[in-house]
Amino acid sequence: MKKIVYADNAATTPVSPQVLEALLPYYKSEYGNPSSVYSLAQQARAAVDDARKKVADALHAQPNEIYFTSCGTEADNWALKGTMRRLAQKGKRHLLTTNIEHHAILHSCAALEKEGFEITYLPVDTYGQIDPAQVEQAIREDTGLVSIMYANNEIGTILPISEIGAICRQKGVLFHTDAVQAVGNVPIDVVAQNIDMLSLSGHKLNAPKGIGALYLRKGVVIDTFMDGGSQERGRRAGTENVAGIVALGTAIAYATQHLDERIAHETALRDRCIQSLLQIPHTRLNGDPVRRLPGNVNVSFEGIEGESMLMMLDMHGICASSGSACTSGSLDPSHVLLAIGLPHEVAHGSLRLSWGVQNTMEEVEYVLETLPPIIQRLRSMSPLWEKITAGENN
Ligand SMILES: *Cc1c(COP(=O)(O)O)cnc(C)c1O
Repeated sequence: MKKIVYADNAATTPVSPQVLEALLPYYKSEYGNPSSVYSLAQQARAAVDDARKKVADALHAQPNEIYFTSCGTEADNWALKGTMRRLAQKGKRHLLTTNIEHHAILHSCAALEKEGFEITYLPVDTYGQIDPAQVEQAIREDTGLVSIMYANNEIGTILPISEIGAICRQKGVLFHTDAVQAVGNVPIDVVAQNIDMLSLSGHKLNAPKGIGALYLRKGVVIDTFMDGGSQERGRRAGTENVAGIVALGTAIAYATQHLDERIAHETALRDRCIQSLLQIPHTRLNGDPVRRLPGNVNVSFEGIEGESMLMMLDMHGICASSGSACTSGSLDPSHVLLAIGLPHEVAHGSLRLSWGVQNTMEEVEYVLETLPPIIQRLRSMSPLWEKITAGENN
């Protein structure tokens, strides 16, 4: 069997054995609808309640502040559209965000702009960082919501969420953070960090796809997004994804219980990988070198086309991702890499390796043996590389 090295945990993660074991009964014998009265259904209800407590505990929130959704994208859509549509009644029509958010945020913003809302996209620096002072200065009289991601999915930069939270609370503006990449990888405390709303997703932390959650601080009222039955205390209708919810609860509890080990393990893989890849000439690290997700490696190799690199890595069983054009289905490279100031051709040569709990140092070493000859081969065929190196050897 061909060996697979999965280094794309920022795209999705494998379901861990303990999560699979916890969720399976809900696809077999425990199939009751949590809204029904008999004991079979009440067991499902109890499982949902237990998972809600686990999610709340992981964030230092209360169980009645957690709303299960179908994914991280839904939580982001709900937070932004639900808040702005509600606040419009109070004349607050301005939303503040950044230019490196996930498309779940950016495209929700675009939809809100069509409805007449005003959005400010704060520019980031070359590390993908926001200075909290930028947020403070950009908050206006009519600002209803600040939405800034906890950690970036492409370049791994961790943003100054506590500082931004304090500013928003002091200014009386609601604060939402897309923490899909951060949950399970960094310690989070919604109370200490003054976070009013937070989005998370199961499949980025070893639970299956199709389950997410929105933390909504008690007292914050936003419009409902899904109308229907009275599930999720009447605020998010639809029969609960019981197996998914149980899986999310199990995964988040496991990740937070083992957070220190997890961070230490992923950081070791990441640092070994970055240190070795930067030995390759004409290579740069993208994202913040220090305030960075433990498993995230993002480098640009000059004179390389991302797609060709990904295809050659795939032939060696390595799963990775790139910020270059075709990967994203458009002609432009990743908006995040352009936002940190990379020229188009350097952005096209980017490689993201995102390491997870299940990865090993042997897998990292395998990538580090496999990649340099691929870079060398692609560069030897690249007219761009000839131009870059012209004059270096004479
Ligand atoms: C994956 C991701 C999302 C979307 O989550 P889904 O559950 O896949 O919809 C949103 N934001 C960030 C930062 C992500 O990495």
